[in-house]
Amino acid sequence: MARKQYRLGSILGIPVDLDSSWFIVFGLLTWMLAANYYPAEFIDWPPTLYWIMGAITALSYFGCILLHEMGHSVVALWYRIRVNSITLFMFGGVAQIEGEAPGALAEFLIAIAGPLVNFILAFLCYSWLRILSDNPPLLALLKYLAYINMALGLFNLVPGYPLDGGRVFRALVWAITGNLRRATFMAARVGQGFGYIFMLFGIWKIFSGDLGGGLWMIFLGWFLKNTATTQLRLNHE
Ligand SMILES: [Zn+2]
Repeated sequence: MARKQYRLGSILGIPVDLDSSWFIVFGLLTWMLAANYYPAEFIDWPPTLYWIMGAITALSYFGCILLHEMGHSVVALWYRIRVNSITLFMFGGVAQIEGEAPGALAEFLIAIAGPLVNFILAFLCYSWLRILSDNPPLLALLKYLAYINMALGLFNLVPGYPLDGGRVFRALVWAITGNLRRATFMAARVGQGFGYIFMLFGIWKIFSGDLGGGLWMIFLGWFLKNTATTQLRLNHE
């Protein structure tokens, strides 16, 4: 599937691209924030303010994802591994790192750096919450970012490829067995399993009345399962 990509610029010599699918999620997230999150926090705002804060929050969310990808990239660059690009798309971001890590420790550090960035951001947002108590819109933004970074960090640690946790798992198996191919096989198999679990969870969500959230989970699970399957096929060649 060929999708259009827009070059935003580059950081540390790494081109940063925006996939066209990003706009859908940016719109959806802004809408959810403007229609649910902000009105629940502040009942007496003018409607435009809900939308402005929704858009600012959605942009900040993707800013955090960019920092997450920068986390992976900086460690990769430190190991002198080329990072071809960072792309933001509907399910988040991906740093295109060239080739395999030189060893299990490098693989582990590159993988863990992303979620670590989210945990640091969550901690920083949470700390600022306590200092900046006199600006309600900023407080609500920080509260959301603290929560979402915690969630992003934890979600990415799910131990199935292509999630970062899957790469951590792969690094551990690689370190123990000394066999990269076997480690990749195991991480991708677990990744397929989690893909199916997410899809089942999505179906369950639909039956419990959350159609939007359920469809999103099914779509995400499907994407994870396909990416893991592609990795298995590449590993086999
Ligand atoms: Zn990551």
